[in-house]
Amino acid sequence: TNPVFTGLQTTIFETMSRMANATGAINLGQGFPDVDGPEDVRRIAASALIDGPNQYPPMLGLPELRQAVAETNKRFYDLDVDWQSEVLVTSGATEALADSLMALLEPGDEVILIEPLYDCYLPLVKRAGGIPVRLRVTPPHWRLDLEALAAAFTENTKAILINNPMNPAAKVFSEDELSEIARLCIEYGVYAICDEVYEHLLFDGRAHMPLMAFPGMRERCVRIGSAGKTFSLTGWKVGYITAAPNLLDPIAKAHQFVTFTTPPNLQKAVAYGLAKEDDYFFDLRDDLQEKRDRISRGLAALGFGVLPCAGTYFVTCDVSPLGLEGDDVAICQQLVEEAGVAVVPVSAFYVSDAPSNFVRFCFCKRDSVIDGALERLGDWV
Ligand code: PMP
Ligand code: GLN
Repeated sequence: TNPVFTGLQTTIFETMSRMANATGAINLGQGFPDVDGPEDVRRIAASALIDGPNQYPPMLGLPELRQAVAETNKRFYDLDVDWQSEVLVTSGATEALADSLMALLEPGDEVILIEPLYDCYLPLVKRAGGIPVRLRVTPPHWRLDLEALAAAFTENTKAILINNPMNPAAKVFSEDELSEIARLCIEYGVYAICDEVYEHLLFDGRAHMPLMAFPGMRERCVRIGSAGKTFSLTGWKVGYITAAPNLLDPIAKAHQFVTFTTPPNLQKAVAYGLAKEDDYFFDLRDDLQEKRDRISRGLAALGFGVLPCAGTYFVTCDVSPLGLEGDDVAICQQLVEEAGVAVVPVSAFYVSDAPSNFVRFCFCKRDSVIDGALERLGDWV
């Protein structure tokens, strides 16, 4: 067996959802909305299941979805994208990440990763032969230390993997941080793999800035999005990549032997969804901002050290003010078994030397569910 995967644990998201299902806990662990995304989008998929397309679509994705991805790049970020040579549809952002790393890395290439990091990054980088070089942002503000960033770049650096907005830190990278990342990528000839699945979930008037839109970065970035997040349909696993042809071409070669294609009926519905008016995207964000405020207020009132949340649908809390016994993993165990609320220990997003006093709450839930969880937590703390 391959040493990267041998001994790896089941992901924390699956683990916490299994525990929530087994115990009847309210699940604020794994990130998924508890209300399915737009009904009209689902109806398009349903009729496409009956009327087609149901056979293999083009390997790069349905033309109408690739066109829609190109158009949203223009609409939201003023990026000019050629849908035929610069867009690839994948089975979720996860496949997009795997394809990109397999295609762009050669054994021994260094890849800069920023902790706390999303769970699939490290195993995928390693399995693609990359050497992970870890940097860290620290709470409460999760600012990037620009000196440490510069020190991480060497002549062996092939890529940096950036998640913006960032799960679970709920951080949105500042323009200064992104400019510095761009400057270093250009200086060292490095690719940026940009996991931007939460691109429409920024709060308090913030606007998403894709690294790809920074000067000199258009040819260096692989920009990854996910219909799962943008349309609250996480089980669909429809993702999309935007990248210059010289990057997209090898990534598509990886894709053709990983999944080859993604269900065409779902692609058709996502194409329709991406063409929605701006208001759809703004309402999604505004609705989540209210939920962020609702859960943050409630948790703060219970004594949790609620950290700022600038984007994503997660809020991270310091549990040390509560004076509970044990580390974050033990506390999550108690929360699910005793309080009846499943959350995620933030140490799961670290390779080593993890902080042990933070837990992540997912708030893309009905208000009644958030209130129910707060009530259970209130009875318990
Ligand atoms: N990247 C990040 C940062 C995520 O939080 C997630 C979670 N869904 C993914 C990628 C995976 O997206 P998908 O379900 O489209 O594969
Ligand atoms: N991205 C989701 C999260 O952070 C989970 C996705 C998954 O379970 N793989 O909770």
